[in-house]
Amino acid sequence: MNHYDYIIVGSGIAGLYIALLAIEHGSVLILTKGSIDDCNTRYAQGGIAAAMGRDDSPELHFKDTMAAGDGLCDAEAVRILAEEAADCIDDLIKFGVPFDTLDGEISLAREAAHSVPRVIHAGGDATGEHIEVTLSRQARSRPVKVLEYCLANQILVENGKASPSRAQARRVKGVRALDCRTGSVEEYDCHFLILAAGGAGRLFKYTTNSDVVTGDGIALAFEAGAGISDMEFFQFHPTVLRLPGVAPFLISEAVRGEGGILKNVEGHRFMPDYVAEAELAPRDVVARSIVYEMKKTHSDRVFLDVTHLPARLITTRFPHIYRFCREHGLDITKGLIPIAPAAHYLMGGVKVNECGETNISGLFAAGETAWTGVHGANRLASNSLLESVVFGKRVVERTESIAKPTIASIPLQSRKCPAEEELQAKQRVHEKLCFLPKREPLPTAPLFNLPNLQSLMWEKVGIIRSGESLSEAVNILATWQRPLPQPTDRPSYELNNLVLCARLMTEAALLREESRGAHFRTDFPQPSPAWQKHTIFRRKNANRTSN
Ligand SMILES: Cc1cc2nc3c(=O)[nH]c(=O)nc-3n(C[C@H](O)[C@H](O)[C@H](O)COP(=O)(O)OP(=O)(O)OC[C@H]3O[C@@H](n4cnc5c(N)ncnc54)[C@H](O)[C@@H]3O)c2cc1C
Repeated sequence: MNHYDYIIVGSGIAGLYIALLAIEHGSVLILTKGSIDDCNTRYAQGGIAAAMGRDDSPELHFKDTMAAGDGLCDAEAVRILAEEAADCIDDLIKFGVPFDTLDGEISLAREAAHSVPRVIHAGGDATGEHIEVTLSRQARSRPVKVLEYCLANQILVENGKASPSRAQARRVKGVRALDCRTGSVEEYDCHFLILAAGGAGRLFKYTTNSDVVTGDGIALAFEAGAGISDMEFFQFHPTVLRLPGVAPFLISEAVRGEGGILKNVEGHRFMPDYVAEAELAPRDVVARSIVYEMKKTHSDRVFLDVTHLPARLITTRFPHIYRFCREHGLDITKGLIPIAPAAHYLMGGVKVNECGETNISGLFAAGETAWTGVHGANRLASNSLLESVVFGKRVVERTESIAKPTIASIPLQSRKCPAEEELQAKQRVHEKLCFLPKREPLPTAPLFNLPNLQSLMWEKVGIIRSGESLSEAVNILATWQRPLPQPTDRPSYELNNLVLCARLMTEAALLREESRGAHFRTDFPQPSPAWQKHTIFRRKNANRTSN
């Protein structure tokens, strides 16, 4: 009864889209630890990037993405992202996502670091909500089995026999999951396990992320023996509403795209002092400039000003933001918006190839959990929803070709799934494989709980880092990890997963002695050619954890 062809962990855009494609090929179970619509996807505002405009091309999208990634994008993955975008947007339209149109054509918005208008949106700035609600409605209307409030807590892996590569000899056989409401634990078997469990934004004190985004997919994959890449690259969004007593709320990049201006508490427009592109500079540059400006003016915020823009433009283009601020006593057509940076998006994740496969046979990852190589050191805005669908589709095509190896109908490009060895050989010189080093526990450390973990990460591993702050953090994290009690409920599983992700992120940030993209260290403020490579962490003795 508990056997499925596909088990998918997570019900955001990646999990639902994969489920809707996979149901054509076999039985599908989605495990999701909250209600079906609890996820980051529903909060996405700006939209999905896809080269669909008259002045645009996949080549231009490729170039913009490569430029944002600051030397660390995987060019092949970026090409796939740009070239296969339109096909996946068509799928979303067929599923019923109501993208905004103008004169009968899909309407495209401009966002920072995109050289042309390229961002497709729905309901103005409610893109994620429309996607999530549409896809979850579709999933409910098909024979996709969805178990809500069910938290995946262990990947079940069996060891294979003779194989040229030890990694490939290991095969996924299922997943263990906790029913968060009853506390019972159940095992589910499958041919293919797909991790679509989102990122790890809850690592930080200030975050735009949903409370379900606690790094579970990364922690589960690491424990099972999968590689975890580039965890040091975490994107902080520069403009998040900072109102006392109000949870951080994103003020989309698109607001600056439409002409929004940043001012400090003294009313000075400061971005041109830092960089020629001013407010349209990459997110990391804007976020750091805001931090410096807040320090200079001894304030915990700066302001985003849209009062010079036509009120109608604001209310029609950003109805969601306008309404949210209005509900909290702020009319943004007349008053300045108090903002500060907050944690937003994890570029690193479970290392997969161009078809979403990890180094464990049958185990896939997609969406923000996965590292496909498209974001490099810094994600280009609106590329993450796109990555979820482009590589999500490839996951299903790959599973289909495994099940029916002679299949002729798969387009040539989709069949290009390099074996792990091939991928390793190709990238060997560009990767640094690491294991978590042994660290002596500190004699005293702050109490281990979620607020202390989030404060530690915000203060020591946040927007501006240094060797000193990272070393301090890593020793505290290692101390906290030593006596980790056996988790029993959702909060305790999440806390354990977060501390593991925090450790992976901090160790990787400590190793990377340079500044690049979203990773900025005051002791190494420049990029270093020696570091034009990815970090990969693997568990040393993962085989021993097999079932
Ligand atoms: C405020 C905000 C605005 C954004 N705006 C944009 C934008 O305009 N454009 C863009 O491209 N990107 C945007 N992003 C990023 C984008 O929304 C995410 O990267 C994307 O939605 C991730 O989708 P996902 O399916 O991978 O994960 P999510 O949508 O986060 O879903 C993760 C799912 O996994 C489940 N889960 C987690 N752990 C477990 C477990 N152990 N067991 C069972 N289930 C589990 C969760 O409950 C959830 O259902 C934004 C993000 C935020 C937070």
